[in-house]
Amino acid sequence: MDGSFEVVIIGGGPAGLSAGIYATRSRLNALLVEKMFLGGQIANAEVVENYPGFPDGISGAELGSLMANQAQRWGLQTAIAEVQRLELNGAGRSVLTTEGRFDAKTVIVAGGTEHRKLGVPGEDQYLGKGVSYCAMCDGAFFRDQPVAVVGGGNVALYDALFLARFASKVIVIHRRDQLRATKILQERAFEQAKIEFLWDTVVDSVEGDGKVGGLALRDVRTGSRSDLAVAGVFVAVGLRPNTGFCEGLLDLTPEGFVKVNANMETGVPGIYAAGDIRSGSPRQVVCAVGDGAIAAISAENYLAALV
Ligand SMILES: Cc1cc2nc3c(=O)[nH]c(=O)nc-3n(C[C@H](O)[C@H](O)[C@H](O)COP(=O)(O)OP(=O)(O)OC[C@H]3O[C@@H](n4cnc5c(N)ncnc54)[C@H](O)[C@@H]3O)c2cc1C
Repeated sequence: MDGSFEVVIIGGGPAGLSAGIYATRSRLNALLVEKMFLGGQIANAEVVENYPGFPDGISGAELGSLMANQAQRWGLQTAIAEVQRLELNGAGRSVLTTEGRFDAKTVIVAGGTEHRKLGVPGEDQYLGKGVSYCAMCDGAFFRDQPVAVVGGGNVALYDALFLARFASKVIVIHRRDQLRATKILQERAFEQAKIEFLWDTVVDSVEGDGKVGGLALRDVRTGSRSDLAVAGVFVAVGLRPNTGFCEGLLDLTPEGFVKVNANMETGVPGIYAAGDIRSGSPRQVVCAVGDGAIAAISAENYLAALV
């Protein structure tokens, strides 16, 4: 693989793969760098019901895999490596990775987001021993046992609904008295008899003895404390953009998302951002693939203006 490309795409989720399809179909020499597996976080969705073209829904893993196949069919080159730094290199850009350096005329940043932590005692200690950030990955370990989900957004309810298939009971712990999740998910969760809600409540610590045995809780209105016996806790309290490799180079929002305009242009010419990582993203697959297409078209226009 040559170390110099017209486009280097960082991240192999829906945004990056869509950018890859557009770039390769425009006959650009494009490389996508992904640190884990192609498909991105949609692989965690058991079923995707809101991506057009699949009236009966499609599993997230299959959707991600189809996108990857499509991009590779058009000649997108891929490297499995973690991007550590994005730098300016004269008129070009350099992407420094665990597998070496790739030089590029343009870069599309599509690194998505990762889960936020609760930041309470016991959370790190019991990671993999009852604490999880992925219901799809770990839910089946909790068959016929009570589990908690912490959070009140879409991911928290996706997780709760999925876990209700295995667990004896799913307790959703939310720090407010209302959910942020979309109405359809709320309706499904309220109808599911195994799901209970603890409102205005936060987790103070994860307790256990070698593995999770319960949670120490606090009512944020009264300050009263209580214990909840659970075998597992699934943390779904929001997302943090994967922008560590471009800090100091790109303009970020206070929350760390990459600032872009409608053409997915960052403040640095030739560098674009797309998908969940960019400011104002609705964090949906259909939006991420749209962003990826726009970013690739913008990159193509930029390259055309160079010659
Ligand atoms: C459980 C769950 C259910 C969901 N259900 C739906 C749904 O039904 N419908 C819907 O529209 N959306 C859903 N979503 C949201 C959807 O998955 C995201 O909006 C979408 O995946 C965003 O795509 P992306 O390409 O921007 O980012 P991601 O999918 O997050 O992909 C980013 C990629 O970048 C890689 N990466 C990050 N940092 C680096 C680095 N330094 N070096 C190299 N690679 C890096 C990551 O490994 C990842 O593969 C769901 C999400 C979850 C978690």
